[in-house]
Amino acid sequence: MTTRDQVDRLATAQAKVYRMVKRRLDSLLPRLQSLPPDQARDLLLAVIPVLVEEHGNLAATAAAEWYEETRAQQVTGTFRSRLGANPPTNDIQRTVRRTAGHLFTGDPAATIGALAGAVQRYVAGTARDTIRRNMLNDPTKPRWAVIPSGAKTCAFCEMLASRGWQKGAAEAGAAGFHDHCDCQIVPEWDKSGRNHVEGYDPDQMYERYSAARAELEADGLDSGDTRLILARMRDMYPDRYTDGHAVPLILRDPVHGWPDDRVLPVTPRTWEHILEHGPGGSKEDQFNGTRYEIAKDIRRGITEPQWQGTPEWRDDVYNYHWRLPDGREALAGGIAVKEGDPPVIRLLTAYPVSDRSRRMLP
Ligand SMILES: [Zn+2]
Repeated sequence: MTTRDQVDRLATAQAKVYRMVKRRLDSLLPRLQSLPPDQARDLLLAVIPVLVEEHGNLAATAAAEWYEETRAQQVTGTFRSRLGANPPTNDIQRTVRRTAGHLFTGDPAATIGALAGAVQRYVAGTARDTIRRNMLNDPTKPRWAVIPSGAKTCAFCEMLASRGWQKGAAEAGAAGFHDHCDCQIVPEWDKSGRNHVEGYDPDQMYERYSAARAELEADGLDSGDTRLILARMRDMYPDRYTDGHAVPLILRDPVHGWPDDRVLPVTPRTWEHILEHGPGGSKEDQFNGTRYEIAKDIRRGITEPQWQGTPEWRDDVYNYHWRLPDGREALAGGIAVKEGDPPVIRLLTAYPVSDRSRRMLP
């Protein structure tokens, strides 16, 4: 069976090649700074395709060796691996042209930064293509999975990874891997279906993916829309992904049900305040549940309040009251930033009403 250790070695080989090519890229900066922008661009148009090819070949060679070794541990018979293809020069030059804009605004470092992401994608892509071609060519027809490296991945990569072990090598690599993605296409020759690459749990990943779809459905949204699914995954599991949402979209985006014409999108500061402090920081003022559940409840309270309006004692304050699933009453409060009926509110806090805080209410 293919192991985590082997997956890591495949990823590490690419990371090493990337570090090499990154050094070469960085060393171009002084020359870019000293040249007129059009000459700097022409230099990159000439140099970058060569760098991509050289380092792509290194990554491909490492991946091909990895394939032979890993295969030899699982099945008998010799197999001659081959190298994957580098991207066409035209594609690379198009990327250079797209990133060259920064040269003309006096920021060559930004061009280098953008190119670094693209070059990583190209080099890792050649390694992935190597794996894919060898699987296609391999009479033992290994299964394969997209497996992330490291503790966290982005929601998009988890979606690919959630598909688990698959047949049909031709489809591997059709996925749109992004800049700086270190996910690997990993072959598996064991047909028993018992593979457990440590830390790779496609069932759990698929559960999160399905849970996001169910939430979209409950909101009356298109649960087949990948963009929406990924956004909801980032809402629901903010710490799990490299691109998790600091403030859930359901608290700021009208597409996800936040009434931004009446209540401004919740700011990171307010969200942090709601989660960490409560009004006086006391335990009884804390919401129960995950951050996403709390956000959902607040959205419900704002869109379907049992009572809303201005308390008699403060005419610039606007409150919403509703009942939480645990029976407690909750309050969200803010200040009116634009007159109207109802006015536009900037939310400042939300909390379950305790006996102590009740005394402060109208
Ligand atoms: Zn990835």
